[in-house]
Amino acid sequence: MVKQRKLEARKRIALVAHDNKKKELIDWAIYNKTALARHDLLATGTTGRLLEDALDRSIKKLLSGPFGGDQQIGALIAEGNVDILIFFWDPMEAQPHDPDIKALLRLAVTWNIPFACDRATADFLFTSPLMHDEYTCTIPDYSNYIKRNLSK
Ligand code: PGA
Repeated sequence: MVKQRKLEARKRIALVAHDNKKKELIDWAIYNKTALARHDLLATGTTGRLLEDALDRSIKKLLSGPFGGDQQIGALIAEGNVDILIFFWDPMEAQPHDPDIKALLRLAVTWNIPFACDRATADFLFTSPLMHDEYTCTIPDYSNYIKRNLSK
């Protein structure tokens, strides 16, 4: 049986930006302030604080990324509590929490959630009619993995 998850019109959007990408994310968020107002936002600690100042609204703030914030978002995705991920990661600088970043990107794909890692993709995502409507998302079928034979 195909498993599905319904994304409501009001989506739960997680936002993360590495230090060299924070300005770009804030600029993008200000430009999309009206569209973002229709959704619930959560973010890693520092990104969330900057977004709150820029958008003049409250945002659920998790731990800072290097202290576990990326992993918190990953867990929320796995539990079905994040609908969209906007993650402006820095391709030019290694981060102390590189394994957490890889884990977060992996979970976004594992659970088939829409995610954007740069401004162009975020623009395409936010101009999709699906962004402001209900959408039924297919959850990949992992039943063979779950039922794999471990008795050999
Ligand atoms: P920050 O975390 O928003 O707390 O800076 C971002 C990250 O590096 O994952």
